[in-house]
Amino acid sequence: KKPPARKGSMADVPQNLLDEIHELENLFSVSNEKLQEITKHFITELDKGLSKKGGNIPMIPGWVMEYPTGTESGDFLAIDLGGTNLRVVLIKLGGDRTFDSTQSKYKIPEEMRTSQNRDDIFGFIAESLKAFVDEQFPQGVDKPLPLGFTFSFPASQDKINQGVLQRWTKGFDIPNVEGHDVVPLLQEQIAKRNIPIDVVALINDTTGTLVASLYTDADTKMGVIFGTGVNGAYYDVVSDIEKLQGRLADDIPNDSPMAINCEYGSFDNEHVVLPRNKFDLVIDEESPRPGQQAFEKMTSGYYLGELLRLALLELHGKGLIFQNQDISKLKQAYVMDTSYPSRIEEDPFENLEDTDELLQTDLGISTSVPERKLIRHLCELIGTRAARLSVCGIAAICQKRNYASGSIACDGSVFNRYPGFQEKAAQALRDIYGWTPGSPASYPIKLHAAEDGSGAGAAIIAALAQKRLAAGKS
Ligand code: BGC
Ligand code: MG
Repeated sequence: KKPPARKGSMADVPQNLLDEIHELENLFSVSNEKLQEITKHFITELDKGLSKKGGNIPMIPGWVMEYPTGTESGDFLAIDLGGTNLRVVLIKLGGDRTFDSTQSKYKIPEEMRTSQNRDDIFGFIAESLKAFVDEQFPQGVDKPLPLGFTFSFPASQDKINQGVLQRWTKGFDIPNVEGHDVVPLLQEQIAKRNIPIDVVALINDTTGTLVASLYTDADTKMGVIFGTGVNGAYYDVVSDIEKLQGRLADDIPNDSPMAINCEYGSFDNEHVVLPRNKFDLVIDEESPRPGQQAFEKMTSGYYLGELLRLALLELHGKGLIFQNQDISKLKQAYVMDTSYPSRIEEDPFENLEDTDELLQTDLGISTSVPERKLIRHLCELIGTRAARLSVCGIAAICQKRNYASGSIACDGSVFNRYPGFQEKAAQALRDIYGWTPGSPASYPIKLHAAEDGSGAGAAIIAALAQKRLAAGKS
């Protein structure tokens, strides 16, 4: 969706608000040169993540050591635990680069994100699986169904059916899961309920996106998520992954590909290069995990509405907006999710009537037209900055791997639904490379909407894992 061109005139906006817009522009704009500088530092950090010593970016080997051929076939279950919903999918891989899927979504009860008992979430997944299997296989099954578990958090893996959670992100905060392998935690709850399911692979959403898109498009170079969180995956080569030296079974050749889940949301946790402003600092300090996910906190959907809220509070404090209004609702942290800046940017009216209604109904705040024009401008700054910064991870991987062309498979709520995001991200990529119209004639690295990573991708990875197992490979 494209945002309507901002034809709204600023003639009715008083000088003090115009000055404020100017100040906000300074806080949120990122120049092309800065993007290039960030990309350069990003490459260094990606390399550090692959070294024995390690760095801020985890660069987690995903133990997917082949490229899908398109001939993978069979029935698989897949689940996706990441953002707001739990998705359960039954995928039939056709073996001819096609697949069919049937899915159900189960809303994760809000309090479960921060439940004190880890069995709540894994029990909830098992219950949802049971409901789904009962519905899809009323006559039962002859052998356990293989399941690919998409777990969209940083999880260390020594093998494909393992995932030791390093730390929660995106507002999840459940005790006794960090430092534990989540596969047995889930399998235990499945066993308790006698559901005929084998968890054969644990997958990051980015790796699933990469593999699903490769299944249908051989030009795919990366799987990227611009959603509640941000992250990317790509294939590296085992011999270039220093930290794997001495850890590999003898039957894995040196030139074997290895999917890497970068977890680059944690880029620049040491605060060297990202242009953090005062609102970014507050978001970090007040998050359950200060000092972590520095890059994600400036770019992902979980935080865009909160950035807006913090900026609005400051403008109110300066006496510029919402005068004589009850702002108690606005004072609640995270009361605005990404749909706020997104809907405000989408508002087609010159006088921003949709925005007016949104602020009235949800927050009980009345605004003047000039105030709304300022707010709209602020949303554009927040969304544009997110789009521009978030492609630095893509440029860094492509430069690091010397990819001169290819397709970047992109998914996530921000990529798919935030107005104008795709165009801005594509433009920022061109700005990093210095590509101007006509040079090269068509931009060689393209952002494309991905195939279903946590459905098809998880299924294909589960199929690849089963094939390896059947061949007796480690
Ligand atoms: C998680 C990643 C995930 C990304 C997108 C981040 O918060 O750490 O594992 O890929 O969000 O869902
Ligand atoms: Mg997701």
